[in-house]
Amino acid sequence: MTQAAYYSESYAQARKGFLAAAHACGARIESISAQTETPVDPAPFTDAAHLGDEDALRSLVVVSGTHGPEGLTGSACQRALLDDISDSGLPADTSVLLVHAVNAWGVATGLRCTEEGVDLNRNYAEFDSDNSDKDALKASNPEYDAMHDYLHRLADSMSAQAYLACGPSMLTEQFGEGAVNILFQGQHRHANGAGFGGFAPTAARQRLERALTSALSASRDIAVVDLHTGLGPHAVGMKFSVAETGGEEAQRVKSWYGDDVVLTNDADANLPYRIFGETSSGVARALPNARITGLTLEYGTYEVDGLVRCILAEFLIRHRIEMLEAGMANKLTGKISAFFYPESAAWRQRVIAQARAVFSQAFMGLAGSIQGA
Ligand SMILES: [Zn+2]
Repeated sequence: MTQAAYYSESYAQARKGFLAAAHACGARIESISAQTETPVDPAPFTDAAHLGDEDALRSLVVVSGTHGPEGLTGSACQRALLDDISDSGLPADTSVLLVHAVNAWGVATGLRCTEEGVDLNRNYAEFDSDNSDKDALKASNPEYDAMHDYLHRLADSMSAQAYLACGPSMLTEQFGEGAVNILFQGQHRHANGAGFGGFAPTAARQRLERALTSALSASRDIAVVDLHTGLGPHAVGMKFSVAETGGEEAQRVKSWYGDDVVLTNDADANLPYRIFGETSSGVARALPNARITGLTLEYGTYEVDGLVRCILAEFLIRHRIEMLEAGMANKLTGKISAFFYPESAAWRQRVIAQARAVFSQAFMGLAGSIQGA
């Protein structure tokens, strides 16, 4: 298959292509509905395709669509992997679980959040057990409180057009160069705010947990690759890990994927903030008997101001819809989708090449072939 054929123009087309390719590879498929009380068309499903030996001890998990519109890129990378598996098979004692459109509602509607209005990549936290993250969640990203008030105050005082045009520069003026970090870090206090990680597990998180426990309960060594777009240099796949600096997982991530992996919890990192509840920590919680090696692969699309504008546009759509004239929400959603899913053939080609490199590094890491490096 040509690389261009991995890419779809819509969620419906992506889902159809993914399911057909997974069937052709002999995958065991579990489709979990993500339909809501207000029906979405096409009907959203999270589809999990499990390939290889059911009882394999090693597994690669590849997740697409954590933030809705980036899902079509993740889907294309999953299609490339299916194509490679169909050509060359899988390494010994290794299975692959492809979770297609984990935030299926977001992929189908073109919004980054889940049906509950939650940033899924902040939602895999511990909310109500004895080991609760609650205090840490409450205390994290305290600067967002002031930004939250400011975001709503600005919305009270200007048009949606002005809000989106001036928003990025006004945030920097008000909160300094770190404004973007405050906006991106996520928070667990303001449900009507940006980057809200939820007060409880979302339906999308539960869909991922169900897919993991039904396919991988035998697995003991799991590589997780969560595919994102939007942050970083154009067409460059930035590698992020939330593993603790100096810990075993951090060492493993670097030896498998290279020294260019950014440890987001490292004080010296470019993104010097602690993230709570991202995907690989969710996998670790769902499968406590397995050793997890988690990677976020994040492909840059356009400038960071554009990303801020997308987040502000989604903020208006979700929380200040009364500000938007008829048809404007749809127009903004189209712009958000375009930001996270570039049409350029060169961009798309580079994305697939880097995904393939990461998948083969994951297989090699799982096989232990570069152990001790
Ligand atoms: Zn993302």
